[in-house]
Amino acid sequence: MLQKILSDLESTNATLVAVSKTKPVEKIMEIYNQGQRIFGENKALELQAKYEVMPKDIKWHFIGNLQTNKIKYIAPFVDLIHAIDRLKLLKEVNKHAKKNNRVINCLLQFHIAEETTKHGLTLEEAKALLLTEEFKSLENVNLIGVMGMATFTDDKVKVKTEFQTLQGIFKILKETTFKDKDDFKEISMGMSGDYLLAINEGSTMVRIGSLIFKPRN
Ligand SMILES: *Cc1c(COP(=O)(O)O)cnc(C)c1O
Repeated sequence: MLQKILSDLESTNATLVAVSKTKPVEKIMEIYNQGQRIFGENKALELQAKYEVMPKDIKWHFIGNLQTNKIKYIAPFVDLIHAIDRLKLLKEVNKHAKKNNRVINCLLQFHIAEETTKHGLTLEEAKALLLTEEFKSLENVNLIGVMGMATFTDDKVKVKTEFQTLQGIFKILKETTFKDKDDFKEISMGMSGDYLLAINEGSTMVRIGSLIFKPRN
């Protein structure tokens, strides 16, 4: 399945984040041994435990809701945090990044789905956040794009519209706040069930778990 997904991504500019949450190290190593180097987890302690025993050339992405009291476990090594949905979280990430002498790359998460259980900012909230002096003073976090999760539904038109919304938000931010920032370029969207729709709408990072780790037959 990994090869099929990689060939689907080949003609696009999207990278694959293999979502390995809940999967044991041996299973993740099978995917690693096929060449995959970017993995995504959504629990800080689980991520830390896997980081410690797995090869150090893995880029670990944190893709879930991050509690501020758990940042310390991942701050020394995390490559990208996908789901920043409030200034307080960004400030805390900044604090821990600084302690580790690092700059941590982050994405702003936007609420594009129908479900209210899904987290994320509105464009207005993000603009307000980006205008604060507090945000501007943060030196150890680096915003490189946006992230979103579509509604869990079979309605392809709806999912496509939600991905277009995220793409539109990215474009607005890229043309305004981040006009001169070349590394603000990521749109993290698309999972096992909707990654083909996502890459059609300009995704640069798909986060795929079940499809990759699905047991054979
Ligand atoms: C679990 C998860 C994924 C992967 O979902 P699959 O349907 O297993 O591909 C992607 N993004 C986030 C934020 C997740 O929590």
